[in-house]
Amino acid sequence: MKHYVSLSDKALDFINAEEISRTLEYAKEHKNDKGLIADIMSKAREKNGLYHEEAAVLLLNNDPEVTSEIKALAEEIKLAYYGNRIVLFAPLYLSNFCINGCIYCPYHAKNKQIPRLKMTQEQIADEVRALQKMGHKRLALEAGEDPKNNPLEYILESIATIYGVHEEGVIRRVNVNIAATTIENYKRLHAAKIGTYILFQETYNKKDYEKLHPRGPKSDYLWHTEAMDRAMQGGFEDVGLGVLFGLHSYEYELVGLLMHAEHLEAVYGAGPHTISVPRLRPADDIDVSSFKNALPDDVFLKLIALLRVAVPYTGMIMSTRESEHIRKEALSLGISQISGGSKTTVGGYANQNAAIDNSAQFEVSDNRTLDEVVRWLMECGHVPSFCTACYGSGRQGVDFMEICKRKQIHHYCTRNALLTLMEYVNKYASPETRRIGTALLDHELDKLPSKTADELITRIDTTTNEIKFF
Ligand code: SF4
Ligand code: SF4
Repeated sequence: MKHYVSLSDKALDFINAEEISRTLEYAKEHKNDKGLIADIMSKAREKNGLYHEEAAVLLLNNDPEVTSEIKALAEEIKLAYYGNRIVLFAPLYLSNFCINGCIYCPYHAKNKQIPRLKMTQEQIADEVRALQKMGHKRLALEAGEDPKNNPLEYILESIATIYGVHEEGVIRRVNVNIAATTIENYKRLHAAKIGTYILFQETYNKKDYEKLHPRGPKSDYLWHTEAMDRAMQGGFEDVGLGVLFGLHSYEYELVGLLMHAEHLEAVYGAGPHTISVPRLRPADDIDVSSFKNALPDDVFLKLIALLRVAVPYTGMIMSTRESEHIRKEALSLGISQISGGSKTTVGGYANQNAAIDNSAQFEVSDNRTLDEVVRWLMECGHVPSFCTACYGSGRQGVDFMEICKRKQIHHYCTRNALLTLMEYVNKYASPETRRIGTALLDHELDKLPSKTADELITRIDTTTNEIKFF
């Protein structure tokens, strides 16, 4: 099948609905074609990715042996590109005011039951102190779309506040997940020195998208879908894609997601920096049983493995929407970033009261503290990392992808992960986590040339909270 990729920045071209149907038809016809499956798997083993047409065939194939092969390869690819480290982050909800009508989200404008909260700059600083105390260094900033309550000026001021708090540590990277906006606004956001601009597509199916977003600026499918092109035209090199699995069929979403990634790579030279894999969760005012496309665990895990195989250079993010059990399996299939100790409420890190508790965007399935998540990761054989090095050293966009493609990024990731783990273990960990962390560090440092291990210690300045990253 001839590969389709569009250089046009028009959503109807790069997420061409006929191409998705054609791909799924082709995949249905060829899903049991053993010769073709063998060819695709052999290409996948080269670890340079797959086209959406190829990934769709593997997705529709139901042979358990092929699924096991895909999963094993996903793990191999994760280790080859990123090593055994897992990056940790926390979401920070600034405001849940929103004028949109997304019917799967409790922040939709018509929900009168939910308390509407917006943090002041002082409250944001309190949240940052609480997050720093836990040991967090990387945040994903979230806010509803509301030009009156949450204008871009408020977001920019909040970013400056977050970077400006240096007490229990320092937040080194703020990624931002806010509504689609203009190129001009993306330029301003980019100038605020944020890391990745993240925007979930929710669903790539235009008809369902329009049904699920009946009001507000987000109801415009084209405006929303073309946002990443505008963000890149506005100066962003790193953007993060994602769909909310469960809104439309997962087959359609996988093809749409890969077409979007292929389009960005073809036009801007770098595909998405990250892909997030949220699944629908229950929340105030939201009954997930009313959605017909809920994704079973086994399919969800195959989908994650397939994404890892199809886009090997892209970081993959899983939040606390998922349980400990699913997160454990997903980590070995290629997830490279997870949130830990998360609150999905507005102001929930520093304070707790009924209004804050009821302001959540979704129910968290993994309620463990950051310390417990760090310990668990180490017990599962991963190296927890608070690394933010690439952004600070300009390894972004095309440059980052080049290093990744040469499979050299793990040299940076491994040493930086150990640096940040040393900092975490010494400064933030509970006694039990420190004990496990110290043993893990000894073990991991032994694998490095001795000069590197000695050098690592000298790179942490405990008075200024500065780390000289690789
Ligand atoms: Fe608003 Fe985002 Fe929720 Fe939609 S998903 S209602 S835009 S906060
Ligand atoms: Fe991420 Fe770069 Fe750090 Fe690796 S070195 S963990 S890719 S920031």
